[in-house]
Amino acid sequence: MQKITIAIDGYSSCGKSTLAKALAQRLNYSYIDTGAMYRAVTRYAIQHQLMDPLTHLINYESLLQALEHIEVNFQFNTHSHVSETYLNGVNVERDIRTMQISENVSKISSIKEVREKMVALQRKMGRSKGVVMDGRDIGTHVFPHAELKLFMTADTTVRAMRRLNELSSKGQYYTIEEVKHNLLSRDYEDSHRKENPLIQAKDAIVLDNTDLSREEQLEFVLRLIADMQLTKDPLSTVK
Ligand code: C5P
Repeated sequence: MQKITIAIDGYSSCGKSTLAKALAQRLNYSYIDTGAMYRAVTRYAIQHQLMDPLTHLINYESLLQALEHIEVNFQFNTHSHVSETYLNGVNVERDIRTMQISENVSKISSIKEVREKMVALQRKMGRSKGVVMDGRDIGTHVFPHAELKLFMTADTTVRAMRRLNELSSKGQYYTIEEVKHNLLSRDYEDSHRKENPLIQAKDAIVLDNTDLSREEQLEFVLRLIADMQLTKDPLSTVK
């Protein structure tokens, strides 16, 4: 079976990572959550007082100097069966999913040097194909020749509800307005930044999952792969 690269881009909290994980599991591919990488850098910047999380002001010079000391990687947790994010050898999977990180990450991800470092890492991680990578610039910049590109979107209130539930399941309580505000401002910043903004690749297939269950989305994409005859024997993979 020929392995391919699957690039999933789209707006915040559209369920990109849920779909990407399910696809990776089904196809026996690796899954790379590129948002987690920018979140980890943000965590480092806040932790080392290189960024004020309240004003979002960044000490650019110090951050650029610190970049070479920032190592981000993923390790598979054999108990939970999920890949977890490590920052300089420390598991930060939980710490990078907070609202504070969400409120600051778009500022960090707009910095050219940060993006260059993360993109180089992402290309290295995905170079042998058989990868599902989700983010904002995967199909347009990281892997412009990916065989399958998806652009995900969903109704804003539905997205905010999903995110609210995710946060409250981790004991983090916010109002729907606060969550919606964060999603919309991140979408705006991510779409309007100079460096590799979030835009739909010309050859991406749009997936609006407002009214779709997880299973329906997964079946839709597996069918796409089969229809595109991207694998020699797709049905053996998608059953
Ligand atoms: O996907 P997630 O919501 O965790 O991404 C967090 C942030 O990381 C995004 O809002 C965006 O600013 C940044 N990001 C990016 N490019 C990517 C992935 C994420 O700029 N490929």
